[in-house]
Amino acid sequence: MDTAQLHGIFLENLCLSLFLSVFALLVIGYLSSPLFIWTIAGAILFYGFGAPEWLLAAYIVIMVIFNIPPLRANLVSSLVVALFKKFEFIPKISETERTALEAGVVWVEKDLFSGKPDFQKIMAESYPQLTPEEKAFLEGPVEKLCQMVNPWKIWKTRDIPEDVWAFIKKEKFLGMIIPKEYGGLGFSALCHSEVIMKLSSRSLPVTISVMVPNSLGPAELLIHYGTDEQKKYLLPRLARGEEMPCFGLTEPMAGSDAGSITSSGVLFKGTDGKLYIKLNWNKRWITLAAISSLIGLAFRLRDPENLLGKGEDIGITCALIPATTPGVVIGRRHDPLTIPFHNCPTQGKDVVIPLDAVVGGASGCGLGWHMLMDCLSAGRGISLPAQSTGGAKLVARVVSAHGIVRRQFGVSIGRFEGVEEPMARIGAATYALEAMRKFTLGALDKGIKPPVITAMQKYYSTEMGRKVINDGMDIMGGAGISLGSRNLLAEIYIATPIGITVEGANILTRTLIVFGQGALRAHPYAYEEVRSLESNDLRRFDRAFWGHVGHVIRNTCRSILLSLTRGYIATAPNCHPQMRRYFRRLQWSSATFAIMADIAMGSLGGALKLREKITGRFADILAHMYIASSVLRRFEYEGRKEEDLPLVHYNLKLCMAEIQKGFDGLFDNLKVPGLRWFLKGWVGAWSRINSIGSQASDGYSHLISRAMLEDSEARERLTSGIHIPKSREEQLGRLEHAFRIVLQAEGAEKKIKKAIRDKVLPKKKVHELLEEARSKNIITEEELKLVRDADGVRYDAILVDDFDEDQFHGRSPSY
Ligand SMILES: Cc1cc2nc3c(=O)[nH]c(=O)nc-3n(C[C@H](O)[C@H](O)[C@H](O)COP(=O)(O)OP(=O)(O)OC[C@H]3O[C@@H](n4cnc5c(N)ncnc54)[C@H](O)[C@@H]3O)c2cc1C
Repeated sequence: MDTAQLHGIFLENLCLSLFLSVFALLVIGYLSSPLFIWTIAGAILFYGFGAPEWLLAAYIVIMVIFNIPPLRANLVSSLVVALFKKFEFIPKISETERTALEAGVVWVEKDLFSGKPDFQKIMAESYPQLTPEEKAFLEGPVEKLCQMVNPWKIWKTRDIPEDVWAFIKKEKFLGMIIPKEYGGLGFSALCHSEVIMKLSSRSLPVTISVMVPNSLGPAELLIHYGTDEQKKYLLPRLARGEEMPCFGLTEPMAGSDAGSITSSGVLFKGTDGKLYIKLNWNKRWITLAAISSLIGLAFRLRDPENLLGKGEDIGITCALIPATTPGVVIGRRHDPLTIPFHNCPTQGKDVVIPLDAVVGGASGCGLGWHMLMDCLSAGRGISLPAQSTGGAKLVARVVSAHGIVRRQFGVSIGRFEGVEEPMARIGAATYALEAMRKFTLGALDKGIKPPVITAMQKYYSTEMGRKVINDGMDIMGGAGISLGSRNLLAEIYIATPIGITVEGANILTRTLIVFGQGALRAHPYAYEEVRSLESNDLRRFDRAFWGHVGHVIRNTCRSILLSLTRGYIATAPNCHPQMRRYFRRLQWSSATFAIMADIAMGSLGGALKLREKITGRFADILAHMYIASSVLRRFEYEGRKEEDLPLVHYNLKLCMAEIQKGFDGLFDNLKVPGLRWFLKGWVGAWSRINSIGSQASDGYSHLISRAMLEDSEARERLTSGIHIPKSREEQLGRLEHAFRIVLQAEGAEKKIKKAIRDKVLPKKKVHELLEEARSKNIITEEELKLVRDADGVRYDAILVDDFDEDQFHGRSPSY
């Protein structure tokens, strides 16, 4: 084809040519084509549309420069660096922020952040399994501990009994994370989580007392950073419960901003020539401090005489201090929402400790913040998510049984449409919590510590737990409100804000940690740009910056094409046919998320971290992509169980709706200079018409609720791993028994109702017609007995506690 023919084709059909050109460029971008393909495509277009020769020549010169990295770095990137520095475009990162940013590693969040997640790889991530020894511990000591505990007695006496403490220590519950070589149980993260999950379905004070020594504190710090002598001496003692640990970071003036602690230590040389630290501290809300023998403490270390040769301000340091050291003050008790676990302030007044008490000895001085951030990047994914999941499973179990047993207007309340809605929300959230818990634990058990994922999991698990318990309380009605041994949900309801607040209060976790840190951490280029600028490395910056530009172009093209095709052109991994559309929508979401994140970072620069309403929405989108991935992974791992399909669809639709909500908020509120009208008016309007997804329809909530109200394997699986007492003396045992009997009796009741409709029996209440139904052979003798039994056990199961005046005022026992 000669030049004239090519011009002719382009110019004669100008509109079509323009359309096809734009389309071709979108496809080139979508396919992540390398720069030389763009160069050729650009040349064809310039040429085809008859650009003057000088323009074509200029284009070729520019593209040659861009295609040769050393030329590009010196001629173009150096200018970009100068501009970035002049306008202070790159966020300033403090040392504490940097340590938090660099803790742990990135995992699947990097894929979700990339705009082009590799779901084949994500779906192949390992799913953790318990060892036979771990299973035996769960079925043995954990089950026994649950049976020993009387939650109402602990509530009323406000104490965990001595024999329960003795059992906890004897069975090494306090040493679950301590390796076997140091006398601990050396459990996997999965087993640790399963123990916490089961205990939290029984007693929260016991759960918290077991949870804290296995979370961020002396044992964990020693395992990762202790010297050999510290490990050999302290870890076996901690494992056997001979030492009771606590960890003090929080201060009256330093809560969420823990990096601003003022508790201080001053290094000095003693008369014996050895190094010592004189400590002064003021900590509050320290769990187990009141009964601790070993206080883990975070403080700022100063070395005025430069004895360590690291300068005067050494920085945050962690030390382990025997509680009996002179000057240690254990304060009076706090009362955490009446949940009876030990929590109190502690002060230290001129407490002198040897340098050896610092975690890691002299080389651990100043590394405290790094140690804490690193441990949190795994810990946040274990304890609180396990507690929320255990709580949700218990709620699901209780409300489903109560939904059948409790009748109003002659109908089991779970069968009212109004109750189906919260019931389905509880069932779906329980499924998703378990999916997210196991998916994350798979990574932790491979030694991956992903801080963005675990922060996300901490926030969203505890928030989902909060919604579940609120729905649960609504379904229970008065039975949820009357305290006593028969009330199975009140403790979870009351204690919920504790999990929301600790290990990074939720608002801050969502707005500052998940996206604030995630944007720099999980973004494929952003942090590299910051680091290369800080180190004045032009070639490194050049690679990162132009990689970033390519990333933006690719994601813009992907986002546009995926939006126009509603994701249908995206690939999906090998999966259940009904799941393909969700994988495609996640590809679409990820591409739009990535481009929006770049727009936000590009337009707000360092100010983005202060725009928390914006970062919070990004966090929501990222988290719901993660929750959806976890749900899909669980469904595939468990062999695509057809009976779980309603739960899976419900959750995935909810995730898509939440993702859409996040985008709507971003399009409306992201104030990009010059682009606001476009984002709010056009992109936002189009996005609402062409939404990524909306809430599941009523049909799904009906199916979920109906499945929960059956005595089925699906109900067992949904709530697996919690403690279910067999004894009918216990409320859950009683309720479960009533649930089964009432369900069995429904067959006979239906026969009587049919006989009423057929006018064989008069129009009366079912229990008034039992004898007559029997005499007319409508029901058998066994059925008559079953219906009577059902009435009896139902009445017993719905009773609530009452107390005489002495019991009510705690003057005589009520347990
Ligand atoms: C029962 C209990 C047990 C605890 N156990 C321990 C323990 O064993 N050891 C220990 O060291 N500490 C412990 N803590 C302390 C706990 O970690 C802190 O409560 C937590 O860090 C939050 O600090 P704060 O309560 O002072 O809240 P504040 O820092 O006052 O925050 C109040 C609210 O403001 C929000 N907020 C703060 N800053 C920002 C921001 N930049 N952006 C957005 N939102 C923000 C927070 O999210 C929160 O919602 C415990 C606390 C409780 C209540």
